[in-house]
Amino acid sequence: MARYTGPVCRLCRREGLKLFLKGERCYTPKCAIERRNYPPGQHGQSRRRNPSEFGLQLREKQKVRRIYGLTERPFRRYYEEAARRKGVTGEILLQRLELRLDNVVYRLGFASSRPEARQLVRHGHFAVNGRKVNIPSYQCKVNDEISVREGSASSAKFKELRELAAQHTSPAWLEKNAETLTGKIIALPRREDIDDIPISEHLIIERYSR
Ligand code: SF4
Repeated sequence: MARYTGPVCRLCRREGLKLFLKGERCYTPKCAIERRNYPPGQHGQSRRRNPSEFGLQLREKQKVRRIYGLTERPFRRYYEEAARRKGVTGEILLQRLELRLDNVVYRLGFASSRPEARQLVRHGHFAVNGRKVNIPSYQCKVNDEISVREGSASSAKFKELRELAAQHTSPAWLEKNAETLTGKIIALPRREDIDDIPISEHLIIERYSR
């Protein structure tokens, strides 16, 4: 599936906040948002400061799309599915995005960023309930057990990630064992669990339901 392959810091600068797409670097003064917090491009510093309602909705949608590394079409599908379900559409949308396997791997601290988690999943390093899954968009469910596959767990990369996982605080809906690099989904993510980056999901819903 197509995905954005350009410079990722540019995406944060466009949205005007940290989207944490580069792992460790995001927490250092080298972060582009720390150094140049204005939109990229020739006119970045002279862009209009008061966006229209439409502009706000567009930016919010783009921001969330970029956080989860999705292009427009799959992101819209998430919205359409959420809209068909009973309940608050915005919350269901975020819940489904949170339950993507690549996001779960990131939330467990088994990868330093969502793009890295996506790549590790793609390369077949993870199993769900003991079976290899290499689809980043795989929808996890409550009681699913996520583990690093046997051959991968002993690699240098995962030795490094084991330390990261031990330091990382996972949300309440996940249970993890950093030593064995295993994790379990013990509940559905609630809206208040998704609070690391501010998101106004109602703007996305307003945009798509025009
Ligand atoms: Fe780059 Fe991370 Fe900073 Fe975003 S938060 S600008 S990805 S270093």
